[in-house]
Amino acid sequence: MKGTRVEIHLDALKHNFLHMRDWIPQDVKIAGIVKANAYGHDLVTIAKTLVDLGVDYLGVATMSEARAIRRHESNIPILVMGRVFESDYDEAIKLNVTLTMTSAEEARRLNLSASLDEKKVKVHLKFDSGFNRLGFKTDEDVIDALEEIKGYDFIEVEGIFTHLALKDADSDDEQFRKFDSLLTAISEKGWHIPIKHACDSIGAVAYPNNSYSMVRLGAILYGYCSRKTPFKLKPVMHFKTNITRIVSIKVGEGVGYDFTFVADRPSVIGTIPVGYADGLPRNLSNKGFVSVNGKPAKIVGLMCMDQCMIDLTDHLASDQDAVQVGDEVILFDDMSPNLTEVAECAMTNRNELLTRIALRVPRIILQLEDKPKIIQYLDFL
Ligand SMILES: *Cc1c(COP(=O)(O)O)cnc(C)c1O
Repeated sequence: MKGTRVEIHLDALKHNFLHMRDWIPQDVKIAGIVKANAYGHDLVTIAKTLVDLGVDYLGVATMSEARAIRRHESNIPILVMGRVFESDYDEAIKLNVTLTMTSAEEARRLNLSASLDEKKVKVHLKFDSGFNRLGFKTDEDVIDALEEIKGYDFIEVEGIFTHLALKDADSDDEQFRKFDSLLTAISEKGWHIPIKHACDSIGAVAYPNNSYSMVRLGAILYGYCSRKTPFKLKPVMHFKTNITRIVSIKVGEGVGYDFTFVADRPSVIGTIPVGYADGLPRNLSNKGFVSVNGKPAKIVGLMCMDQCMIDLTDHLASDQDAVQVGDEVILFDDMSPNLTEVAECAMTNRNELLTRIALRVPRIILQLEDKPKIIQYLDFL
């Protein structure tokens, strides 16, 4: 297939997952985090693959994501890690989705909804140990809420969790201390909450002794982690396109809107059908590079919405036929440029780039035991 596309290498996902599964103690559960369309990799494909590989839980940010998984996977536990509002309670209960509770008031309302459906709903309490984003702010708030929930027939407190800011080891330790002290206070009351969790990918790798009963792995499953990992990760997504035009220009000719690039030598300019609307950051203009036939080519001129131009002068200096229309262009893959280099150049992080790959970019799923499958989201509109 030619044109702008991402390839999803499920063998790489399997490699990353199974190595983590091997490395994390067997009694610690793995929640595969698949929010934001599985970091751009296709929610349903990644969810199904992780379930087949033996993941224990799936984590998402919203009810809409939980609903999409449930259409395909009726049994896997799903935790919505963000706050869900009352308008979604009924559906969450019917779909057997685990909800995050951040106040006693939410639990009260949820119990009422669940009692109308006569169905028990599982919740995980979120404790704010310092991130200051979401969750109960003090031990007393949690204890009071648990005291109250004890009287509710339709809520089961299955888990309790917190989230690290990862500023440095000291601040992380401080958050672990707060979480541990809360857990002690809870068990001193004689209450048992089965699933405790604090670590995301970086936390799981940096603090193996603080895995509690579950870790929440996102980035590392897709092949990325900012800390040294116990094994080599394989990036799951490769972003590619093909050249649509090659043209020679004279010294002094400009390229693109505002002519922000002006040729200072006779140049050969290639056009590629990918722009900022596809998820390639516009601030790569005149500084980012792509790879053509194994050699870097700089992005020249301002990136357009649907296309951009690259400098092929050096590629064609010794051999006029070295690059032709239709040739493959790597925007990022596991070699060069890789996602880390592109993110640095664009002054953002890798997750932002992955999650912003546009809906119109087809996902070519390179399956484990079957032929490739093409997912075109616009077909569903
Ligand atoms: C997104 C998210 C994760 C996963 O983070 P990674 O760094 O990608 O592993 C874990 N926990 C929560 C609460 C999240 O929102």
